[in-house]
Amino acid sequence: MSAARRRDAAAPAAARDRPDACPGAWRRHDAADGALARFRPVGGATSSAELRLLAAAADTAPLELTSRGSWQVRGLSDQGADDLAAALSRVGGEAPLLDARGRDVPCSVVASPRTPAVDAPARAVADALRGRDDVPGRLLVAIDDGSGDVLGLDADVTVVLGGTLYLAGTPTGITGDDPAALALAAVEAFLAVRGDAWRVREVGADAVLEPLREHFPVREHRKVLTSPEGKLLEVLPRLGEVDTLAAAVLADLGDEGATLRVTPWRTVVLRDAPADARARLEGLVETGPSPWSTLSACVGAPRCAKSHTDVRGDLARAVATGRAGGLLPAHWVGCARACGTPAGPVAVVEGTPGGTYRTIVRAGKVSP
Ligand code: SF4
Repeated sequence: MSAARRRDAAAPAAARDRPDACPGAWRRHDAADGALARFRPVGGATSSAELRLLAAAADTAPLELTSRGSWQVRGLSDQGADDLAAALSRVGGEAPLLDARGRDVPCSVVASPRTPAVDAPARAVADALRGRDDVPGRLLVAIDDGSGDVLGLDADVTVVLGGTLYLAGTPTGITGDDPAALALAAVEAFLAVRGDAWRVREVGADAVLEPLREHFPVREHRKVLTSPEGKLLEVLPRLGEVDTLAAAVLADLGDEGATLRVTPWRTVVLRDAPADARARLEGLVETGPSPWSTLSACVGAPRCAKSHTDVRGDLARAVATGRAGGLLPAHWVGCARACGTPAGPVAVVEGTPGGTYRTIVRAGKVSP
């Protein structure tokens, strides 16, 4: 765990001195290659129609999956971004990226991708937060099925099915029968005390816990195990890039009955996948053991003006020659800002002004 992440979740940190500028569907980031729009799927849920709209807007560029399981579309014009958001608002469905009023979910709501039982609580949390402007974009809410997959993200608020609440990765002992109600109560408790803070660890878990103790029982933590249901396939787009062809095949598989879930570890899970799904995705995404499974990278040059080098091109060449893709996760970046560095133990491979790379190994929490 990095020094910042190692800080006790109960210890408050300094308040932020600048506004939250996380991009969304309507609030875009002005990047060197145009407007960047971000869409936060509810528990990863993405319909075929939404995927096709995103891919069409990206044109020949790949869609990007973020470390929170969001979709990013880069290189948009302002009008193109508005048109994309408007088109997504018309798609509908149980957990749309944007609802009919054009409202997106202001923060990330992630959920274990393999278990349908987490879908409803994730939807309930997202529906309650959708369109609100008092929720910081950096806030991360997770609904875990008991497998620990999204619990490992150390989200600001995590509820494990069975009702156990974690704040900033720390078990609280607080439980509730309704996981969505528990998660929402924790979010509201954080919003009530957050001031300018974006994350629970900035105000300290104790400040969030205090009002919850009055309304939810405190019991010993119990781990609830659930079994994956249906025919599962998990595929890995390299560096989270889903190109036009891959998006089309995934959308087709969705049309044929597969349920698509994108994950915070930049994969796509297909529940009830057709028998030939793996073969059809072969060559478009990684469908088996792959050196890319431990690799991530920032966007680098030429799409980021701050980058000292073409990070993704350099990384592809390193993988091709067997110089990257070991067991330790590695995150390649074009400058010292190290955007997108994942949680946990990781080697940060950083481009320098001289055109070389230096590697910094960051320790992390070891899961039991
Ligand atoms: S790490 Fe540096 S080069 Fe990479 S996206 Fe961030 S600012 Fe750009």
